[in-house]
Amino acid sequence: MSVNSSPAVDSFARPINYFRISLTDQCNLRCHYCTPRPLSDKLPLRELLSYEELLKVLRVAVDLGVRKVRLTGGEPLLRSDVEKLIGRLLQIPGLRDVRLTTNGTLLAEKAGSLYRAGVRKVNVSLDSLRPERFREITGVDLLDRVWRGIEQTLNLGFERIKLNMVVMRGVNDDELTDFAELSRKLPIQVRFIEFMPIGADTGWGPELYLPAHEIMRKLAVAGPLEPVEAENLDGPARIYRQPGSLGTLGFISPISEHFCARCNRLRLTAQGRLRSCLLNDLETDLKAVVRGEGGEAGIRQALLETIRNKPERHRLLETPGLNCHGRMSRIGG
Ligand code: SAM
Repeated sequence: MSVNSSPAVDSFARPINYFRISLTDQCNLRCHYCTPRPLSDKLPLRELLSYEELLKVLRVAVDLGVRKVRLTGGEPLLRSDVEKLIGRLLQIPGLRDVRLTTNGTLLAEKAGSLYRAGVRKVNVSLDSLRPERFREITGVDLLDRVWRGIEQTLNLGFERIKLNMVVMRGVNDDELTDFAELSRKLPIQVRFIEFMPIGADTGWGPELYLPAHEIMRKLAVAGPLEPVEAENLDGPARIYRQPGSLGTLGFISPISEHFCARCNRLRLTAQGRLRSCLLNDLETDLKAVVRGEGGEAGIRQALLETIRNKPERHRLLETPGLNCHGRMSRIGG
């Protein structure tokens, strides 16, 4: 298969070159807003696409123009031998960039093998720097372990480490400056993400939602924020720096100032469903195609149709509660 230089483009002229893959719906944390407790309906292994099946899909996707892949979940590091998958993905001609989003609990032990497999960019999700609060949010007492994982990625020299904090009013918004302070001392990007109304039973409420501009205003009180130019394929964050910092700050505003016009993403859920918008439940059963008779041509057609039908933008605010019943851990955050 040749590497096609013209990327897949959707009906609104957006090139689609970024594929996010949820490797598993399982997670070892129980963040109340993400993974409802108890999680009694975990997917059986046969429902997940095997690594061979994922590679088949990714070869076609890269041929269509995908240049960046993010492995997420659930917790992607719970999937066994994830390093082997990464090594093989990076052998696909045209794919140089495989990233990972993780809760960081297994990073201390896995960072070395991930680095050797070729990962250079990781996002670690962390909503509190206070052990007691971390336990309240996640249900486990593992802040130390997450922190050791972050230190390990820094020691190994990962090129890009982002720390993602979902900001919830009255829950963790009193830690904004503590998080920002990390970007002064460490070469990481601390990103503040608006809490999104995803999933029917995950507790989102307008009283918890803090818009990005308010987060920025609170931080600006502590000192000026200088804008930093984003790099190609860098995603939707607006990036700033506090003068004299080793790292940067990112602000992600899917609700208050959506970035749909620049969206370059396609997603594959843990159940093997293709999804062109995080916040819209329109899905195509790609697993049926992969396990059916259609071969590469069938996969190609499913990818192109999903790209063509990608909605212009999310409609979360016009029709709250209607668009996204899917659970984040399955869709892949
Ligand atoms: N287990 C991995 C992790 O913790 O990063 C990957 C999956 S997790 C679903 C990915 C990200 O989605 C996490 O940063 C989580 O905080 C975020 N997330 C989940 N639900 C969210 C929501 N309603 N609004 C904003 N971010 C959310």
